[in-house]
Amino acid sequence: MNPKALYTITYGLYVVCSKKEGRFNGQVANTVFQITSEPPTVAVSINKNNLTHEFIKESRLFTVSVLEQEAPLSLIGQFGFKSGREADKFAGVQYGLSQNGVPYLTAHALSFLEAEVVQEVGAGTHTIFIGRLTDAGILKEGAPMTYAYYHQVKKGVVPKTAPTYVAKQEEKPAPQEAKYACEVCGYVYDTAAGDPAHGVAPGTPFEQLPADWVCPVCGAGKEQFRKEN
Ligand code: FE
Repeated sequence: MNPKALYTITYGLYVVCSKKEGRFNGQVANTVFQITSEPPTVAVSINKNNLTHEFIKESRLFTVSVLEQEAPLSLIGQFGFKSGREADKFAGVQYGLSQNGVPYLTAHALSFLEAEVVQEVGAGTHTIFIGRLTDAGILKEGAPMTYAYYHQVKKGVVPKTAPTYVAKQEEKPAPQEAKYACEVCGYVYDTAAGDPAHGVAPGTPFEQLPADWVCPVCGAGKEQFRKEN
């Protein structure tokens, strides 16, 4: 068996949100799919340890925000690498409320869906929530972010709780220069690429990054990076 065959499956990138007792939470998910068109029904696969899972169980409602290709890594980091148990993920984020009062992103999202859970399927570490569409809207024109684009172009990483997480990724042959990886999210600083979005020119070694530079994915400081080789 060659599990690499799984890498050829294509996905999008979404933020799934829910609510519980007046509190909101949301998380990044790539496993969102339409199941039927009549009635319009969608499904999401959510890790049982995630706070969003607890919220969906409680409210029986979730929204899906479809991210645009230009969505910044910091937004994906905010919803993908932080837990709603420790931080309010909606702090500083633009959002609207769907028909039943569930938040969805209004910046960097092309559209949103709201669904009411009609069935759930336990699947080991995850639950598949199947929901009937109760609200939906188009927010802007644009190209949706795909999982492949996030990895290949944006150099994004995946948390351990993602359904598609691969424990041991193959290392490329190491060049002479040291690599530094974020201990919080696994992002690897690439000297050749730099971090142009934050004013760091390509070719800047990690050691020469400004002291206030932070991980573009999760916001961790330089001190949380560790030398890899
Ligand atoms: Fe990080």
